[in-house]
Amino acid sequence: MAVESTIEWTDSTWNPVTGCTKLSAGCDHCYAERFSERFRGVVGHPFEHGFDLMLRPERLRQPLAWRRPRLIFVNSMSDLFHKKITESHVTQVFDTMEAADWHVFQVLTKRSSLMRNYINKRYPATPVAPHIWLGVSIEHRNTLSRLGHLKNTNAALRFVSFEPLLGPIGRVDLTGIHWVIAGGESGPGARPMADIWVRELRDQCVDQGVKFFFKQWGGVNKKRAGRMLDGRTWDELPPAVSTVKLKHPHDPPRHHHVDRQASYPR
Ligand code: SF4
Repeated sequence: MAVESTIEWTDSTWNPVTGCTKLSAGCDHCYAERFSERFRGVVGHPFEHGFDLMLRPERLRQPLAWRRPRLIFVNSMSDLFHKKITESHVTQVFDTMEAADWHVFQVLTKRSSLMRNYINKRYPATPVAPHIWLGVSIEHRNTLSRLGHLKNTNAALRFVSFEPLLGPIGRVDLTGIHWVIAGGESGPGARPMADIWVRELRDQCVDQGVKFFFKQWGGVNKKRAGRMLDGRTWDELPPAVSTVKLKHPHDPPRHHHVDRQASYPR
C-alpha cells in the first residue's frame, strides 16, 4: 500500500532506497537523517540501520500495485543518484516508473550530474516520459551548477526545488524549467529565509512563465509561519499534472490506501 505524504507538493512517497550521505549545506539539517536515526538499533524496524544507505529490492515494484493515480515523490528518504546505488537498481526504478504510467513520479536529486549522465545514456534520443518529472534541489547560489546539469538532462518535465532556501539566488535563467518550488527550512535549528529571496524567485517565475509553488516560510514552528506570500498561497503545478489531482493543504486527510502501520515514511 502507498505511504501518504504530508509534503505539500506531493501525494505519496516511494522509497526503493533509504539512507544517504551529506553533500552540501542544504543537507545540514536533513529531515530524512534525523527521522531515520531515531530508529537505529530498533530490531525489525524499517530504519533499524538508521540512515545507512540501503537498497530495498523488495519495494521496486510497489507502485504497480497502487491503482489510484498519484503524485509520487521518489526516494524522499534518500537520493536516487547517490554514487553507491548500483546502476542496475536505478534501472529497475525507472523500469517500474515507465510501466506504472498512470502515476506521476517526482525524482529530486542533489547529484545532478549523475542524474544527467544516467538519463542521457538511457534516453539518448526521445526524452524520459512526461509522467516522470526530473528535478534538482538548489539551496544557495553556490549550488546553481545543478541547474545547468538539469537543463542538459533529456527530460520532458524539469523542476527545481529551492528548499531549504539559504541565501539569495539572484538572476537566474529558467529556460527549459517547467516548475519551481521554494521554501524555508523548518524544524530544530532552522536557518531563516529572507522574504526578498522568495519574492525574487517568484517574480522571475512569473516573468519567465514558469509555474511556482511556495511551500512554506519554515522556521521552528512552520505551521505558525504558514505559506502565504503577498496575501495568497502559490500552489501552481506543471500543466502535465492534469491526470492527478494534488491534495490541497487544507483538504481533509485521505484514509484510503494508507498502510495503517506506516505512519512514518519508509
Ligand atoms: S541529499 Fe537529501 S537525503 Fe541526502 S543527506 Fe542531503 S538532504 Fe538528506
